[in-house]
Amino acid sequence: MAEIKLERLTKRFGDVVAINDMNLEIHDQEFVVFLGPSGCGKTTTLRAIAGLEHPDEGDIFIDGKRVNTLSPADRDIAFVFQFYALYPHLTVYDNIAFPLKAVKAPKSEIQERVKVVASILQIQAMLDRKPSHLSGGEMQRVALGRAMVRRPKAFLMDEPMSNLDAKLRVNMRTELKRLQHKLGATTIFVTHDQGEALSMADRIVIMHQGSLQQIGTPQEVYNQPQTVFVAQFMGSPAMNLINGKVQSQAALTPDPIKGEEPVLHLTHTDVWLKLSAAQLSRIGRLDELIFGIRPEHMIVSKEPGEKGFKAPVHLVEALGSVNIIDIFLGENPETGDLVLLRARTHPAFRPDVGQPIWFDFDAKQVHLFDRDTEQVIA
Ligand code: ATP
Repeated sequence: MAEIKLERLTKRFGDVVAINDMNLEIHDQEFVVFLGPSGCGKTTTLRAIAGLEHPDEGDIFIDGKRVNTLSPADRDIAFVFQFYALYPHLTVYDNIAFPLKAVKAPKSEIQERVKVVASILQIQAMLDRKPSHLSGGEMQRVALGRAMVRRPKAFLMDEPMSNLDAKLRVNMRTELKRLQHKLGATTIFVTHDQGEALSMADRIVIMHQGSLQQIGTPQEVYNQPQTVFVAQFMGSPAMNLINGKVQSQAALTPDPIKGEEPVLHLTHTDVWLKLSAAQLSRIGRLDELIFGIRPEHMIVSKEPGEKGFKAPVHLVEALGSVNIIDIFLGENPETGDLVLLRARTHPAFRPDVGQPIWFDFDAKQVHLFDRDTEQVIA
């Protein structure tokens, strides 16, 4: 199988920079997911690796060999667009055998390889059927079989499950991941579905406007977002992000706690947070920050606590296994925008809209970003 490396890769279409100076190393046998909103450059990057787009700048290496000038056929990688894209007039056997017949492989070798692939995918009993007599999941396996039969160095998959219904997609995630593990095949999988990315990837590459925002394990990109973009892109409901200013306590609270350390005041609200010594040292002289906390890291109560803040409930969304509570903190007088905090709670926690609740933040789960660069600080 293969290592894939991109060095300073750039691809433009007129004024659009589809890939912007991208550096990336994908390890042998790794399952990497390209994730990002529509138009961020995922497909273009995949097509460049496959040899279907020519980069304007930068290099692509497969197993240490520069492949910029190699044709797609000579790169020895299989590109899977969509699991439904089978030849309808051919049987399952002939669909899988197609790439080998195209290169005029001997018949006995074709038979042997199709047999092996069909056995791995557990579709031996369907080899005489036409695609119209297969379920969505079976079609996916046949499409994979057609890609596997050539024994490529890597699989590149562009939203392959986009045509499957929601339930089947969830089943297919597990199956595809299991299969990839079994084959030990280096795989790049493109999606804009974060659930798919979190459940399947060894590492996720998050892209935005042609640039790589962050690469890491699902846990890393979820728990330690490096930019505001990643913070708000990963997670549903999204992370709460509120502008804040580092100020002296005395200016904010009638009864300042002992000590002179500055606090973070959330703009247009009466909420402020103590900052730890470590946070203060990383913040340095910066004072305009973006405060972030995930809805599951909010602590809420219907009863007053010793610490924390009081604010009215704006909305309650009961989603079955959890409730999402919007808490009203204030309003921007210039734009009229509401400053809300969302909390994810147990379904039994159902306060009334308009009633006050008490809330606090899990201090270890607070994220702070520089408001200018939108990069993480602490
Ligand atoms: P999606 O999830 O919608 O498929 P994507 O992240 O895969 O999006 P790309 O298809 O790589 O994004 O496109 C990146 C940018 O390059 C977009 O702005 C797109 O409009 C532009 N683009 C892609 N292909 C071409 C092309 N052949 N000609 C002109 N612009 C293009």
